[in-house]
Amino acid sequence: MGEGLKDRVALVTGAVGGIGQAISLALAQEGAAVALNYLVESDESANAFSAEFRRRGYRGRLYKADVSQFKDAREQIDNVIKEFGQLDILVNNAGITLDRALKNMDPGEWDKVIAVDLSSVFHCCRAAIGHMLERNYGRIVSISSVVGQKGNFGQTNYAAAKAGMVGFTKSLALETARKGITVNAVAPGFIKTSMTDKIPTNVMDKIVDGIPVGRLAEPWEVARAVLFLADEQSSYITGHVLSVNGGVYM
Ligand code: NAP
Repeated sequence: MGEGLKDRVALVTGAVGGIGQAISLALAQEGAAVALNYLVESDESANAFSAEFRRRGYRGRLYKADVSQFKDAREQIDNVIKEFGQLDILVNNAGITLDRALKNMDPGEWDKVIAVDLSSVFHCCRAAIGHMLERNYGRIVSISSVVGQKGNFGQTNYAAAKAGMVGFTKSLALETARKGITVNAVAPGFIKTSMTDKIPTNVMDKIVDGIPVGRLAEPWEVARAVLFLADEQSSYITGHVLSVNGGVYM
């Protein structure tokens, strides 16, 4: 176990999902205390993940909150700051897909994806930023997607949310650049999680054919990038979008 983050407190949203677990474990392995956000549906898996954290001797605590709701996100962040005494690293990772060609997409599918994938980033950053500004320190990393960079059939809602995160990231980076706070995004390509499990095999075969590295990524390969940006010494990197995509978009 490293010690680089031993004085740091992190919040990871969607911490019990595929990439969220890898990010949370990577931060904890470097010594951070990690607030593990999850949503109602995943109570059982959240408890199992929290038990795994304890088994490894990591510091972590579950926080159940719907980050698509500002009130929930704010209460959660207030509680993390109260219970851990500080919040240094915010990883906006929670996300969903509701794919459909635009001609058939209903407004509810649009609104839901924008709320969970994009508004959640505003909610958590808005709730955390005052605290980070007061302490002149912060590392914010949001998980965008290659889909926000190049578009994808059937994902106008998801692509808009993920591209929106990039503009948000660059703007907040400007607002906080002189305050010891860096704001960056990671743009994964196709990663092996429940999100990509939903893609039919014939479609996935075509996707893999188009990936220069020739395979999907493992969640830890995204976590490496997050860990790098979350490091205190990555202090001169802000407003950046770091691709982790096996060369599928350059
Ligand atoms: P995942 O396994 O489905 O994880 C997503 C997590 O987000 C789930 O644990 C889910 O919790 C949580 N979540 C959903 N709505 C939430 C809400 N309103 N409040 C709090 N948590 C919520 O998918 P993943 O692949 O790890 O995705 C993680 C992030 O990476 C997402 O932002 C995704 O868009 C992005 N990404 C993934 C890929 C990929 O290929 N997998 C590629 C690029 C980007 P519940 O289970 O409780 O709903």
